[in-house]
Amino acid sequence: MSRTGIGIDSHAFADGRRLILGGVEVPHERGLAGHSDADVLTHAIVDALLGAAGLGDIGQHFPDTDLAYKDADSLELLRAVLSDLEAAGLQATHVDATVMMERPKLSPHREAIRARLAGVLGLELGRMNLKATTGEGMGFVGRGEGVAALAVATLGPRG
Ligand code: MG
Repeated sequence: MSRTGIGIDSHAFADGRRLILGGVEVPHERGLAGHSDADVLTHAIVDALLGAAGLGDIGQHFPDTDLAYKDADSLELLRAVLSDLEAAGLQATHVDATVMMERPKLSPHREAIRARLAGVLGLELGRMNLKATTGEGMGFVGRGEGVAALAVATLGPRG
């Protein structure tokens, strides 16, 4: 039986920070503010996986009040959640994600990000889809104030 979960996250742009999306550094004059590395895309995927597994949300697992997660590599958080899934007899079978960002363009980095995430998730490339869209000048995304990400994850029994 398959199970599905949804995840959503957003982070504000800030000076003096790196822009990390799916574990890949995307060159830009500003990065994202956050307690961890502020990898908004990985956070959305983590929440989608936790949702599908019925295991709560990222804030419960990795509180931003915990100094252990200060500037944490979000791929490490993803790996920790994958271990929890494994312990629950589950594995990711498909992830679809969308990054909403006005600038910079995601397309030059899309395949690198996709490959990085597929590798960590243990998915073939065709099962890790990554999409990008802008805010068409509207809202916090459109004004370039921050980046949002959405993800849907499907889990199946561990093979
Ligand atoms: Mg976040």
